[in-house]
Amino acid sequence: MLDNAVTLNKVDLTTKALVPKKKARPNLRCKFCTIVKAYSTIYGLWSHIFLKHNDIPNAKRLQEIQRTASLWRAYWAQDVDGGRGGPTVTKLAQAELATFS
Ligand SMILES: [Zn+2]
Repeated sequence: MLDNAVTLNKVDLTTKALVPKKKARPNLRCKFCTIVKAYSTIYGLWSHIFLKHNDIPNAKRLQEIQRTASLWRAYWAQDVDGGRGGPTVTKLAQAELATFS
C-alpha cells in the first residue's frame, strides 16, 4: 500500500517535470488605489498611474512602473514572445530604464 503511493508520486513528479512551467500572468493592479482594480494591459495601468496619481511623488510612481515593467517583461518574454525579443519586450526594457520627463 505504501509502496504504491510512493510509485504514484514518482509518476506525478516525472509528468510535471516534462511540462514546461508557465509563468503566471502578472496581476496588473494599481498599488496606489485602495479599491482593487486590475488592468488588462500594462499600458492601461501605466497611464492610470500617470494620470490619476498626481499626489504620489514621481520617484514612487516611476518605481512602480519599473517594477511592473520588469514583471511584465519576464512574463511576456517567456510565455508570449517565446524569447524572440519582439517590439513589446524592447519597449518594456526601455520602460524599466525610463525616467519621467
Ligand atoms: Zn490607482
